[in-house]
Amino acid sequence: MHPFEPLIYLDNNATTAVDPAVVEEMLPFLTEHYGNPSSPYRMGKHVAKALETARCRVAQLIQSEPEEVIFTSCGTEATNAAIYSALAADPDKQHIVTTRVEHSATLKTCELLAKRGVEITWIGVDGKGQIDPEEVEKAVRSDTALLTVMWANNETGTLFPVQTLAGIAKKKGVYFHTDAVQAAGKIPLSSKDIGVQFMSLSGHKLHCPKGVGALYVNKKTRFTPFLTGGSQEGGKRGGTQNVASIVAFGKACELAANEIETKETTLRVLRDGFEEQLFQKIVNVQINGDKSSRLPNTSNLAFENTDAEALLMLLDEKNIACSAGSACTSGSVNPSHVLKAMGCSDTRARASLRFSFSLYNTLTEVDKAVDIIVKSVAKIRSL
Ligand SMILES: *Cc1c(COP(=O)(O)O)cnc(C)c1O
Repeated sequence: MHPFEPLIYLDNNATTAVDPAVVEEMLPFLTEHYGNPSSPYRMGKHVAKALETARCRVAQLIQSEPEEVIFTSCGTEATNAAIYSALAADPDKQHIVTTRVEHSATLKTCELLAKRGVEITWIGVDGKGQIDPEEVEKAVRSDTALLTVMWANNETGTLFPVQTLAGIAKKKGVYFHTDAVQAAGKIPLSSKDIGVQFMSLSGHKLHCPKGVGALYVNKKTRFTPFLTGGSQEGGKRGGTQNVASIVAFGKACELAANEIETKETTLRVLRDGFEEQLFQKIVNVQINGDKSSRLPNTSNLAFENTDAEALLMLLDEKNIACSAGSACTSGSVNPSHVLKAMGCSDTRARASLRFSFSLYNTLTEVDKAVDIIVKSVAKIRSL
């Protein structure tokens, strides 16, 4: 089905294979429909119409209104835009509440802002990577500009109680942003039900090419552009739109929204089958994350007495792709900040691998992967 047939790709939280239907949809916008969507003649208008179709499709996935969707270059830009806009709303509110386990898009931005005088309150997590809403409530103040908490953690899959958090933000009159990059396409999301002001999305985590994302901004929320320039995106984001990628993103969101509950179940069957088999065949394996509140596709496992980097290399030789820590931190010597925040020892963090499934994976691949992982873990433990 996908072009890397021999590879068992279990790193779908890092990026995903592009759906052929998505490629087909975007191709005409790389060839004949190359017009600028802001141009007044027919080709421009045709392209502008395609942009609006994409906007409607993204809006449907998150149950928002189309005008609440701003296209960006990636999930990271969306998150930066939300944070900077919230800070621009009121110079007397320069305090942000966030967690210690956010993606680097949020984490590094807040660390930089802290150096510039913005006060950051970092909420910790328990052993399952879960936060305590009461602690969040206590941290939110009258001078808080933004509460920003991810919907689902990219490393462990732990789902945060965004509904409760949005309620807290509302009660305190504070803006709420959620990084929904990992949740989108895996579980149903609704901006309406939740009542958020900002929500970040990224295309390449849901079978669209890399380099396109979106920021949901509630229509009642005051917004200051992060990229100033032309009046594209309703004046909320300057720069000529990446039309082909946006068209692709729209198609990917349409496909993702289609029977999402069924997709969630399919992913869960793959992941749970994988874990059950591993637990039967390997001793001393533990799940990192909140088993009762977790993305259906993510399995972060600690294999005692192993080294994740070595294990990852062995698996790569056998054509299995997975991740040690997050994609953005692998290659570095530091253990994952998420596992550290959960209180994992360095040894356990360094013995942990993340496997993340997509609908392109099959039960046959799961069986094959389990077999190879069992042998590889045994090999490393015997050294
Ligand atoms: C991948 C990811 C991002 C960043 O999205 P990009 O489009 O790669 O910038 C942000 N947050 C989470 C949780 C992610 O997994």
